[in-house]
Amino acid sequence: MTVDQTDAATNDSDEQDPFKTLRQFWTHPNQLRALAISTAIRVGVIDTVHEGPKTAAEIAVECELAPNYVHRLLRALTAYGLFTRTDDHYSLTPVSKPLLAEHPSSFREIFLFYYSPDRLAACRHMPEVVARGDISGYELEYGCTQFEYFEQNPEFGETFHIGQDSDDAAEGFVQAMENIDLSECATVCDVGGGYGGVLCRLLDIHPHLEGTLFDLPSVLADEQRLWGSKLGVEDRCRYVAGDMFEKVPHADAYILKAILHDWPDDDCMTVLSNIHDAAADDARLFVGDFVIPEEDPPPEVVDMDLWMMVETGGRERTRSEFESLFERTGWSIDQIIPQPAPASLITCTKGH
Ligand code: SAH
Repeated sequence: MTVDQTDAATNDSDEQDPFKTLRQFWTHPNQLRALAISTAIRVGVIDTVHEGPKTAAEIAVECELAPNYVHRLLRALTAYGLFTRTDDHYSLTPVSKPLLAEHPSSFREIFLFYYSPDRLAACRHMPEVVARGDISGYELEYGCTQFEYFEQNPEFGETFHIGQDSDDAAEGFVQAMENIDLSECATVCDVGGGYGGVLCRLLDIHPHLEGTLFDLPSVLADEQRLWGSKLGVEDRCRYVAGDMFEKVPHADAYILKAILHDWPDDDCMTVLSNIHDAAADDARLFVGDFVIPEEDPPPEVVDMDLWMMVETGGRERTRSEFESLFERTGWSIDQIIPQPAPASLITCTKGH
C-alpha cells in the first residue's frame, strides 16, 4: 500500500471505507496528522461531538481546553475529513466514528497507543538505538523493555493489547487461517496471544478445537478483558500465564503472531526451541509476521521493521532469515501465504 498524500487529506473520505482511510492516517508518512487524531481522542473532542453538532467554543468548555486551539485542531481535522462544519457546528464523519469510545473496533486504542507521549518518548531515542545496535528506545527512556513497561503501567499496556486485537492484521491472520485444514489438530496454543482475539476467533470457527491462551501473568490477570467469554468459547479456552523463554504448554498446533518480530534471533530461537520441546509429534506452527522481500521491500513492511528496531530491539525478516531460524530449531516451512494485511502467514511442521 502506497499512501497518496492527497488521498488522506481530502473531505471526500466519507465515501471511502473508513477503516482504509484510518489505516492510511495511521501509517501515513505525515505523522503529524495521526498525532492530531490521537490528541482529539485523548482530550475528549471526538466523544463530546458524538452527542450532537457543537461549536468550537462549546467543545472547549466541555473538554476544558483553550478555545482558540480547539478551533485550530478542529479546522485541521475537518481538512483531513474527520469532521464536517455547518454554521460553525462540527459533526463527526464516518471516518471518525470508529474512534468513539463505544465503537467495537479498536482503532481508538491504536491511535492512542501509537501516538501516546509514553511511546513517542521511547521512539525519540532512534538515533542512539541505531548507533548502539543493542538497546531499545524503551530501555533508554525507561530502563526496562516495552513489555516490562506495560506491566508497570497497566493502563498503557491495556491500550496496546486492546488495539492489537482489532487491528486489521488480526483479521487478516484469521482469514488466512480459515483456509488451513486443522482437522488433525485437537489443541492449539497461542503463545503471546495477548487478550485472545485471534485464538478465540479460531475456536469460534473450529468447534472441535480446544485452545490455550499463553501470555505473561499481567496480561491474563483480568479475565473480563479476555476474548473467551466475549465469543462464548470460554469452555474450550484455558488461560495459562507464564514465560515463553522458560516453558510453554503442550499442544498439537501453535500460533506465534507478531511475536518473532519483537525479538533478536537468539531470543526467537529460545522460544521456537521451547515450543518444539512442548509440541506433539508432527505439530503445526503458524507464524504471523511480515516477510520482507529480498529486493525493493514496500514502505509498510520497512516501516514496521523500524518500529520494531526502536521499540523492542526486534526485526522483520526475509524468507531466508526465517528459514535459518526454523531450521536451527527443528521446524520446516511448508508454505508462506500472503494475508490481506501486509503481513504473511508462515506455516511450519515440527521435524523429528
Ligand atoms: N499475538 C498477539 C500479541 C502480540 S504482542 C497479537 O498478534 O496481537 C507480543 C505479545 O507477547 C504480548 O501479548 C506480550 O505480553 C507477549 N509476551 C512478551 N514477552 C513474553 C514472555 N516472556 N512470555 C509470554 N508472552 C510474552
